[in-house]
Parts: sequence; structure tokens; C-alpha cells
Amino acid sequence: VPCTETVLRTKDLTVKFDGFAAVNKVNLAVARGELRVIIGANGAGKSTLLDLLCGKTLPTEGEVWLRDRNITGIGEAAIARSGVGRKFQTPSVFKEMTVLENLQVASNRRTGVFANLFSWRSPRPTDVEAEVAARTGLSDVLGRRASELSHGQLQWLELAMVLSQDPKIILLDEPAAGMTAAETDKTAQLLLDLAGSHTVLVIEHDMAFVKRICRKITVMHQGAVLAEGTASEIERNQAVVEAYLGS
Ligand code: ADP
Ligand code: MG
Repeated sequence: VPCTETVLRTKDLTVKFDGFAAVNKVNLAVARGELRVIIGANGAGKSTLLDLLCGKTLPTEGEVWLRDRNITGIGEAAIARSGVGRKFQTPSVFKEMTVLENLQVASNRRTGVFANLFSWRSPRPTDVEAEVAARTGLSDVLGRRASELSHGQLQWLELAMVLSQDPKIILLDEPAAGMTAAETDKTAQLLLDLAGSHTVLVIEHDMAFVKRICRKITVMHQGAVLAEGTASEIERNQAVVEAYLGS
């Protein structure tokens, strides 16, 4: 039994918009339990890469593999069902529902949101929901309406909704964006806690934040992977300094 299993792998993943390669022959391998951070300047192709991984955007060429399955082009819904969990955007939280009710919707998403919305909802969390709430710091606000949450709590609820779907990999685009220093702190703790039990791929541009959470960093530049390594390796890499860190 190999001690490291690759959960997500891309092969020469490329997307061109009118001939412009926003993502250019990216080969990425994320191991099970890894917390990988992708950094890079604005426009480097980070968000577009996530769009390709979750099927929101179709690649012009190349492949995406989830464990031993080629998921290229199977569609966004099928990719989500196969275990690629991308943090929902804010509108996917039901603002008039409580935190717990949102978690219940998320854990029933496979069987359909409407069936769940019209069914009797237990006021108590299941063990899984309680654990997800604890890990995301939401245990004390399970009964609160989502509309009453702070910006940080709303982000954690979205993450909790992804977690309750038991994803094989979690994709996060700048999870601490817009957060206060205290919320950013808590998000770093949360991600560190997730690492090991979950496989997480995070886009982040704040190097201080990256250094707190990360073991292995992938640097993107003009759509391509420029370098990979630990924070100290990246900071000593001349090409990275010139393309990104030095600016
Ligand atoms: P990052 O997230 O690293 O800041 P993006 O992935 O958002 O970068 O964008 C990478 C490049 O691709 C940018 O130059 C952007 O303008 C371009 N791009 C992204 N999506 C599209 C699209 N749908 N059509 C045309 N150009 C796009
Ligand atoms: Mg982006």
C-alpha cells in the first residue's frame, strides 16, 4: 500500500480564451491529506484553474483526474457528486434559514434540496453535523439565521456546507478575503485543523497567511506553474522573486 495517494491530478491542463492561455499546461498532483496553497499575481490563472478543476470551465486541452477517474468534461454537477467540493458562493447559503438548517440542506443535497426543504427538520444536529459545526466554529450559532452571521461566520458556514458533503478534495479561493484579523486567524486555525483529515487546495495571495498554513506551495505565473516547494524554498527561488514576490 503506497503511503501517499494522489487525490487530484491534472495533465497539461489548458484553457484558452480567444487564443490567450489563461491556464497553460498545468500539471498538478495533490496528495491525500495535503493542504496545498496556490499563489501568484493577479491574473496568473489561479481562479481559472479552480474553475477547470470543478468543471465550471471546460479545458481546451488536458485532463483532470480524481483518484483513478478521468473527470474531464463530465460536467460540473457530476464532478461535484464525484467528490470535488468547491466552496459555495454566498448566494448558495439560505439566508432566512438557520445555520443548522443550511447544514441539513447541504448534507441532503444529493437527494435534492426541495425534498429536504419541505420535510420535517430535526432541531438537533446529527453527529456529523455537530462535528462539522465544531470544526468550523459554528457550534454556538446553530440556531441563528444565516442573515445574522458575521462575514467570517458566513464563510465558515459555506465551508461547513462543503464539508458535510464529505468531499474527497476541497477547493477554496481566497478563504480569508474580506475578513478581520481575528477572523483570518481563525480561518488559518480551521484550515490547519482540516489538513490531515481532508485534502484541501487553497488559493491565497497573502504570504503571511500562506506561511502560517502551508507546507507545499505552487506558484503560478502567466497561466503556468512556475515553481513548487515550501515557503522558504519559494522565497529563495530567483524566478519566483522576479515574477511575483519582488513586485
Ligand atoms: P487569478 O485568479 O490568478 O487572479 P484569473 O484566473 O481570474 O487569475 O484570470 C487569469 C487570466 O484569464 C486573466 O488575464 C483573466 O482576464 C483571464 N480570464 C479569466 N476568465 C476569462 C474568461 N472567461 N474570458 C476571457 N478571459 C478570462
Ligand atoms: Mg482569482
